[in-house]
Amino acid sequence: MTGLPHDPSPTRLGLVIDLDTCVGCQACVVSCKEWNTGGYPAPLSDVEPYGIHPSGAWLNRVHTYEAGDGPASRTVHFPRSCLHCAKPDCVTVCPTGASYKRAEDGIVLVDENLCIGCGLCAWACPYGARELDTVGGVMKKCTLCIDRIYNENLPVEEREPACVAACPVHARHFGDLGDPESPVSRLVAEREGVDLMPEMGYRPTNKYLPPRPRRDKPGCGTPELETASPEGGFLGWLDAALSRL
Ligand code: SF4
Ligand code: SF4
Repeated sequence: MTGLPHDPSPTRLGLVIDLDTCVGCQACVVSCKEWNTGGYPAPLSDVEPYGIHPSGAWLNRVHTYEAGDGPASRTVHFPRSCLHCAKPDCVTVCPTGASYKRAEDGIVLVDENLCIGCGLCAWACPYGARELDTVGGVMKKCTLCIDRIYNENLPVEEREPACVAACPVHARHFGDLGDPESPVSRLVAEREGVDLMPEMGYRPTNKYLPPRPRRDKPGCGTPELETASPEGGFLGWLDAALSRL
């Protein structure tokens, strides 16, 4: 078992993702993979990149689903990565201390030198945000690009996660969600941003901004962001989608 910080800083770095704006282009997915696998010439997929079933560890994925039926339906693109939870059981189940949460900014990381690839953390994560790197035999996940956001060799304006920098429609925002006056916190308040699956009690740092109602199609409303249930709705769909991963 691994402990959480006893005296965490109020700083909680994370992402705000706008489901109204995301167009599902996958630029953030590719940018994330390129940054995290970069530094040597290699295809993006880790295994069988030119085979029938290319695969690998992707720290950010975008899923697309249809909400509603008939003319009232709409397409929603849902980017998924680690939410850097305040109460992450993925950390506390880790038997080696490889998974840990930083006290100074709340980022959840994996020390690959300590990871034995047992997969317990992936079972403990309700968001499907951890990916086993079958090549390296270690667990991987979003690091919030910790090697960019604190990198003094980069110009200040580039010190943001690669996914945020790549998004062509500015659907992704990075900042301190522990500061109620930060631009990201104000954006969440203004747009009534939500936690994913709050009933799980993980208190994710990342927030999602729900799609706005469509003005051009009467009756085409906002997909509901209710408690997860098998009956449907956004979180019901999310539950079902993640359970298939
Ligand atoms: Fe852990 Fe999953 Fe929360 Fe990330 S989203 S901190 S992997 S429980
Ligand atoms: Fe959505 Fe932006 Fe990612 Fe494209 S880059 S899939 S618009 S979040």
